[in-house]
Amino acid sequence: MKIVKQWIKVEPYDGIEIEKRIERACRVCYRSNDYISQDSYKQLITNCIKSGHESVIEHEKISVYFYGDVGSYKDLTRHRTGTSFSVESTRYCNYSSDKFENDIHFIDPVFIENKENYDFCIEGYKFAEEFYMKMANNGAKPDELRMLLPHGTAAEYVLTANIREWRHILRLRTSKKVHPSIRQLLIPLLLKFKQDMPELFGDIPYDEDFPTEWYAEIKEY
Ligand SMILES: Cc1cc2nc3c(=O)[nH]c(=O)nc-3n(C[C@H](O)[C@H](O)[C@H](O)COP(=O)(O)OP(=O)(O)OC[C@H]3O[C@@H](n4cnc5c(N)ncnc54)[C@H](O)[C@@H]3O)c2cc1C
Repeated sequence: MKIVKQWIKVEPYDGIEIEKRIERACRVCYRSNDYISQDSYKQLITNCIKSGHESVIEHEKISVYFYGDVGSYKDLTRHRTGTSFSVESTRYCNYSSDKFENDIHFIDPVFIENKENYDFCIEGYKFAEEFYMKMANNGAKPDELRMLLPHGTAAEYVLTANIREWRHILRLRTSKKVHPSIRQLLIPLLLKFKQDMPELFGDIPYDEDFPTEWYAEIKEY
């Protein structure tokens, strides 16, 4: 068993180019290409978002790779509009095999602040793995083995969404009401988007009290 940290990898993008391409698409509405200047995209995009003219921001998409817990992708895959998902399959990945070093990886539940409960959770992971391996050694297939995998099992998944849907997901999924393991992943992502594309993401609120030391690392793509 390995206790691992969540991470994010963002497919490289150029925030200014994304905003400029959105401007170009948007100006079709007004035949106003002649208004394009070095930074005319800034005001145009700000106006579109303020007025709810948001279909224009659907023209651009970004892919993000997550290494998180099964519970987080279970929640995020509920977003069905303007999204595409690919998720590590617990039906095909056999964690008892050499390919996975005969180990199940579980996400570190850092947000369980009561030490005793944290230890109970790690103990639960150990039991799950012990019986997973017992069943595997007894000939069980991944389809059968996955019945033992808890929400905390680590898995990689990739989400591609257009900018309108990213705004929607990040607005919904970075608030205090959302499971901490999702906030761990999405708050640092939102902060990156805010920095790179302020006109598109600057207005989105998030849980500013969430401990920064819990943020998932944004790794090199
Ligand atoms: C704090 C929180 C708690 C939640 N708790 C639960 C829970 O207990 N149980 C549960 O089942 N789910 C729960 N959810 C999931 C939630 O109900 C949504 O299914 C999920 O957030 C996907 O969002 P969305 O519906 O906006 O879909 P998206 O696919 O992100 O859709 C984007 C937008 O498109 C429009 N749209 C999409 N589909 C339709 C449609 N069929 N008809 C009309 N308009 C549509 C809506 O305007 C929607 O907001 C929870 C979500 C949050 C954030």
